[in-house]
Amino acid sequence: MSERDLLMIPGPIEFEPAVLRAMGRPTPSHVSPEFVEAFGEALDRLREVFLSEDGQPFVIAGSGTLAMDIAAANLVEPGDSAVVVSTGYFSDRFADILKRYGADVTVLRAEPGSVPSSDVVEQALATTRPRLMTTTQVDTSTGVAANVEELAALGQEYGALSVVDGVCATAGAEFRQTDWGVDVCVTASQKAIGVPPGLALAMMSPKAMEAFEARKVEVPNYYADFANWLPIMQAYQARRPSYFATPPVNLVLALQASLRIILGEGMEARFRRHRLIARAFQAAMEALGLRQLPTSPDLRAPTISAVYYPDGVDSSLLGKIRSDGVVVAGGLLPQIAGRYFRVGHMGAVSAGDLLATVGAIERGLQRSDYEFDLGAGLEAAQRVLERL
Ligand SMILES: *Cc1c(COP(=O)(O)O)cnc(C)c1O
Repeated sequence: MSERDLLMIPGPIEFEPAVLRAMGRPTPSHVSPEFVEAFGEALDRLREVFLSEDGQPFVIAGSGTLAMDIAAANLVEPGDSAVVVSTGYFSDRFADILKRYGADVTVLRAEPGSVPSSDVVEQALATTRPRLMTTTQVDTSTGVAANVEELAALGQEYGALSVVDGVCATAGAEFRQTDWGVDVCVTASQKAIGVPPGLALAMMSPKAMEAFEARKVEVPNYYADFANWLPIMQAYQARRPSYFATPPVNLVLALQASLRIILGEGMEARFRRHRLIARAFQAAMEALGLRQLPTSPDLRAPTISAVYYPDGVDSSLLGKIRSDGVVVAGGLLPQIAGRYFRVGHMGAVSAGDLLATVGAIERGLQRSDYEFDLGAGLEAAQRVLERL
């Protein structure tokens, strides 16, 4: 990949220069006053990003999958029942993780590109009375956004802890942890949080921490155990150094830099920018005559789009787009992976980045002998971007 390529995949994304500078700094000691302050600030600011008034943040070296694993390890005891509202590949991964810790898992599925109906979810909650329910706010394999607010409210009604996989959503898609009654939200650094890969992030509600404290069985995973991590997070929040396992110092400094940028923009402005950028991209794909995976427009995510190749075009389109310096991703859902592509539009993404992407897609389609009005996608995107 050339140094000037534009990375428009669902993570890692394009990172802000200030974030990359933090990555390249000489590494201070993890117990130095400067680092203690940076880590404490990052933990405090995470609450503002998750819109969680009283959540307990965790920042641990690892990827998004580790964040999911940690949530499951600390909340599941053998024989607990769990409901997984599946919208694709990553929801199914959550089901596998929960099973690994001994949960009896009910997976609710819908056709690719849609979300199980609230009736189906309610029925499963009523019959299994699960300890927890997981939803994937944005399923990166399908570009489908679930209605987390509604699903979390249903979960609460039936006494289930509501666990949200926010890996492709948090800090981009609208999310209000306290207001929506979400107990656990996990994410990773390399998506809308805007930090290179390597941090597993979680925000636990007081109720989720009580559920952890009330466990009868020890957490069967040493590295994941909150008993090891909670005192560390609390210490840094109180601006005291502490040690369980060496923190990824530069990544935490980069997180501090990125959270400053995110909160400098403001969460409401950030949600709006993501909505408009997504709408612009999705309007462009419509104008080009391309069909999208989500089965209705209201299910389309604000952070990523999944688009079918039109007839006569295949995955060689990706290489053509790349030859114009824009990197987009292929399909991920096993049964239809070769039939669609995905474009991430989150974090620092600008109107200019989006137009460059739409332009490169148009040029790729043109070179694939697909018939369309050249410029129609750009024009549709421009119409929406006027409002940015
Ligand atoms: C990327 C992603 C994951 C996995 O994160 P990794 O950092 O790759 O482990 C999980 N869930 C969703 C929704 C994702 O987008």
